[in-house]
Order: sequence, then structure tokens, then C-alpha cells
Amino acid sequence: MAKINGDTQIVAFLGATYKTSKMYGMYNAAFEALGLNYIYVPFAVNDLEKAVEGIRHLGIRAAGVTIPYKIAILPYLDELDSDAKRIGAVNAILNTNGKLLGANTDGKGAVKALQEVTALAGKKVIVLGAGGAARAIAFAIADEGGSLVIVNRTQDAAVALAKAVDCKYQTIDKLEQEIKDAHIVINATSVGMVPTDNESLIRKELLSSRLVVMDIISHPKETRLLKEAKGQGCKLKEAKGQGCKIVYGDRMLFWQGVLKFQLYTKVEPPIEVMEKAINDL
Ligand code: NAP
Repeated sequence: MAKINGDTQIVAFLGATYKTSKMYGMYNAAFEALGLNYIYVPFAVNDLEKAVEGIRHLGIRAAGVTIPYKIAILPYLDELDSDAKRIGAVNAILNTNGKLLGANTDGKGAVKALQEVTALAGKKVIVLGAGGAARAIAFAIADEGGSLVIVNRTQDAAVALAKAVDCKYQTIDKLEQEIKDAHIVINATSVGMVPTDNESLIRKELLSSRLVVMDIISHPKETRLLKEAKGQGCKLKEAKGQGCKIVYGDRMLFWQGVLKFQLYTKVEPPIEVMEKAINDL
């Protein structure tokens, strides 16, 4: 544990999961391993505007932000980085002498999780969903040269996202046709998350062993979609070269957190320490 003194830098966490998030263990282990005088503290928020002013006026170095504040917090910040601006949501704040910058590492976190098992350039990627997470992921995959198709229940949202990213969209009834020649399919909707954990938007017959299947849901760790992908011959990433691979939502969660650490401290993150800490919790 860091020795708390007048120089200690506080990294806060604001969001509904402040009690259950494993991030405090991961960050505090990393601060300790690098001998950084930082501490990570989850906070309960009862007034968002005043909480943000608290960050500014107490000199809190940074804050992780999650639901329900990712969009609601925007009016209280001074500036947004380019990712937060185009996504229209933040998952981190950096305080530089009272000036609050909003950032978003969700999209790059998803890309890092996918890159553990596959390259993205030139690959046909289906993103299911057009909400906040899908938006972050779509921009980041387009940056890596992936060829995207947005598929969403509400067509207007799919059209708007496809227009913003400059990619194709498709209605959900055409998923079967789109998936035939896709390389990667990502569930970026909330379908499959507890309490809808026995649901999946993709029929298992559509999951062939040549696909990379990612579900960004992390609760439960293994969604119905990922279970069925495994059942169709999709293997864990360790099983290289044996059919398709699956990517868990908790890998995105891990990498978006690693990228935030870099933003907060300007120091190279100790990946192995962070990985061990999150697995040990
Ligand atoms: P959001 O903005 O509320 O978007 C929800 C999306 O799910 C929309 O596209 C919505 O479609 C779709 N959807 C919801 N219910 C549906 C249903 N019954 N049938 C078809 N589509 C449905 O939520 P979000 O912030 O993007 O989050 C989505 C999921 O990602 C959540 O489970 C969240 O926990 C997870 N997430 C994970 C990470 C990570 O690091 N692993 C990060 C962020 C989010 P419509 O447009 O038709 O409503």
C-alpha cells in the first residue's frame, strides 16, 4: 500500500459498479509495483456536477467513469480528446491544474483484446449494436482498417453510426447473409448480460469455426453466445490454429483499464502485474 502523504495522487472511480469493479486491485498493484505515489479509490456519487467540481477543486488527479455517467458527465468537463469527441462519451477524466479533459479508451481497449487473437486490417467485421460501446468499437476498428458492417435492432441508430464511421449497415434480419463471409463478429449489445444471460442474438448455426467471436459483455464472463461459439468449434485463444477463436468481454475491460493507467500516470503500464492482480481478485 502506498504511503499516503501530501504528494499522493488520487485516481477516483465514478459509476454504478463502484463496489464490484475489480479495477482498484489492478491499479493499486500497478502503482505499488512501480513505486508511484498514487492511490485508486472508488467513490459513491450522489450529485454528479458537485462530484466533478470535487475532482477539480480537491486536485484529484484523474477518474475512471462508467455507467450511468459516461454521457451525463460531458457538460461538466472542459475539453474532450478526439476519441471522446467522436464517440460522444467518456470513460476517463484527467485533471491538469483544475482543467478537466474527458477521454475514452473503450474502442482501443476492444481493439487490443481482438488483436490478442487476430489482425484487423482487411477483415470483415460485423458489429451488433449501435449504442455507446458499439460506437466506440466501430471507430477504433475502422482506424485499424477493418471493413465494418453495423447491425442493430433499431435501424435509425445503425444508419446514424454507419454514417459517422463511413461504413455499411444492415438490418438484423440480414445477419445470416452478412455473417457468411465475415471474419469477426462482435456482440456489442446488452443481450446476453445478466439477467438476459440465456439469450443470444446470433443463432448458433451461424457460428462457423472460421469466425472470431467476441462478446463485450463481462457479466457473465462466458455468455450464451460464447458458449455456443465454443460448441460450434470455436476455441479459446490458446488453441492457436484450431478453428475459430473467442474473445471475452473482460479482455476489453482489462485493456481499456490498462490504457487509462497510461493516461493517468504517463508511465508504461506493468501489464503482467495488472494481469495477475485482476486474476487474483
Ligand atoms: P447502450 O448504449 O444502452 O446500447 C445498447 C445496445 O443494445 C443498442 O444497440 C440496443 O439496440 C441493443 N439492444 C438492447 N436490447 C436489445 C434487444 N433485446 N434486442 C436487440 N438489441 C438490443 O449500451 P452500451 O453502453 O453500448 O453497452 C452495451 C453492452 O456492452 C452492455 O452489456 C455493457 O455492459 C457492455 N460494455 C462492456 C464493456 C467492456 O469493457 N467489456 C465496455 C462498455 C460496455 P437498440 O438501438 O435497438 O435499442
